[in-house]
Amino acid sequence: MLLQVRNLHAGIEGKEILKGINLDIRPGEVHAIMGPNGSGKSTLSGVLAGDPRFTVTEGTALLSGKDLLSLSPEDRSHEGLFLSFQYPVEIPGVSMVNFMRAAVNAKRAYLHEEPLSASEFLKMMRQKRAIVELDNKLASRSVNEGFSVG
Ligand code: ADP
Ligand code: MG
Repeated sequence: MLLQVRNLHAGIEGKEILKGINLDIRPGEVHAIMGPNGSGKSTLSGVLAGDPRFTVTEGTALLSGKDLLSLSPEDRSHEGLFLSFQYPVEIPGVSMVNFMRAAVNAKRAYLHEEPLSASEFLKMMRQKRAIVELDNKLASRSVNEGFSVG
């Protein structure tokens, strides 16, 4: 099991929002969680990512068998959890390519691997970019700057 959530209860400032969530996600599966505004979708994502505003009062969440709730947000991301932004933050002056190299090298450090040099990273970036047919210009742009939601 990739993600296994059992009887998860969590809330904010004493108000219970998640009241016993169960969720099983196996490798390769895509799940869409739907519900009216205010039903707790963002709360569930925040709790799994380790947003400190929320308090877990009961239940468990395992990521590939590891106790997710006992890990720091950083280590949750190193273990493969990624929470995308609904409203991405623009970071003018930090290029996408430098941002991505810092991210890759942070993960490599977690895995006790040597960091990639700038040239090694650019080479890898070229290969990966070709696979997804991503425009070269994107890499030199600042992080999330001018990204359209459309
Ligand atoms: P969804 O993403 O499904 O629209 P949320 O997880 O954002 O739902 O919200 C679930 C409930 O938690 C709502 O009733 C909301 O008012 C409440 N809530 C969310 N964030 C806070 C907060 N910071 N303080 C108090 N209540 C909150
Ligand atoms: Mg939401």
